[in-house]
Amino acid sequence: MAISSFHPPRRTLMGPGPSDVHPRILEALGRPTLGHLDPLFIGMMDETKTLLKYAFQTSNELTLPISAPGSAGMEACFVNLVEPGDKVLVCVNGVFGNRMIENVTRCGATAVRVDFPWGAAVEPAAVEEALKANSDVKILAFVHAETSTGALSDAQALCALAKKYNALSIVDAVTSMGGVPLLVDKWQADAVYSGSQKCLSCTPGLSPVTFSDAAVAVIKARKHPVQSWFLDMNLILGYWGEGGKRAYHHTAPVNALYGLHESLVMLQDEGLDNAWQRHAAMHGALAAGLEALGISFVVKAEQRLPQLNSVYIPEGVDDAATRQYLLANYDLEIGAGLGDLAGKVWRIGLMGYSARMENISLLLKALAEAMNAQGYTCDAASALAAAEATLA
Ligand SMILES: *Cc1c(COP(=O)(O)O)cnc(C)c1O
Repeated sequence: MAISSFHPPRRTLMGPGPSDVHPRILEALGRPTLGHLDPLFIGMMDETKTLLKYAFQTSNELTLPISAPGSAGMEACFVNLVEPGDKVLVCVNGVFGNRMIENVTRCGATAVRVDFPWGAAVEPAAVEEALKANSDVKILAFVHAETSTGALSDAQALCALAKKYNALSIVDAVTSMGGVPLLVDKWQADAVYSGSQKCLSCTPGLSPVTFSDAAVAVIKARKHPVQSWFLDMNLILGYWGEGGKRAYHHTAPVNALYGLHESLVMLQDEGLDNAWQRHAAMHGALAAGLEALGISFVVKAEQRLPQLNSVYIPEGVDDAATRQYLLANYDLEIGAGLGDLAGKVWRIGLMGYSARMENISLLLKALAEAMNAQGYTCDAASALAAAEATLA
């Protein structure tokens, strides 16, 4: 039997990522493939770097997309900055902080972990205590927007602490870029990585990164070569660096980069301030609608990520049955809880192109129907009215 072409259904993606990809971006992906050293393609790479500097709010020269998903951007930051024997302070308030520890250990370095409850932000005072107690810390690493719980940490305060204690900062901004303010230069963040498939609404598989001059100096002064050949920034620069001469390092994912370029043009045209405001407004509408359905949030209001809403599953409602109902009847995806929160919460994403009223209306209607079918009582129409009232 011959296998035929794959034609996925059109789902509405309201989980922790990937988010809905805008039709303009899908269209860009199908444009003619150029050689990865074609002068026209190189011109597009330069534009992509310029657009990324805008998205990161930085003038860092070393700003580019790694040809792999967010996890590779994370690894690029750690393997380039961390050497065997170094000490790295890692803040852990969810899944992604734990992955940072894994990266530190695999670099042959020592991770000092500071834990915070899942669903809460990183507490700067506790981080300062740990920095005082460990004067030889080279790097402070933390997650700006914890997608596993929906908590937003104060990146500005944490980067300032790193500077105060003579450490570099590594910031996970995978979910924050485009969704909430991310001001790399103003905050003096040193190494920051993001992802294409969250609030940029591009396809998965690319990871924008940026390194400050201080971080570049540390990379240049390394005693040991970077143990990853593919992610060694010194080598990647031979292809992505400034100036006319570009040498082959790896074949760039040419069409995927068209998609990223298109998503960044869209972000530039909307304007960062407007994108942040849109995410905040849509979050307000969703929150009012969910509360009208009797659903409450995991994270306290002032620490909530607008683009990732962790909410408790009401008593008597089944997690998997509900998500299955949404997928089967509405082609609608929401996320499950992770770790200790598995089975207890849903994670509802409002990222990028997913952050619009049509999606919120669909979700409130579908979720109310799914829960009413399980004997829970709630009213979709009043939830929708509550959501719309926030925008009036
Ligand atoms: C999604 C995500 C990642 C990993 O990105 P991938 O593209 O899945 O590798 C890392 N950190 C955070 C906070 C994320 O939300």
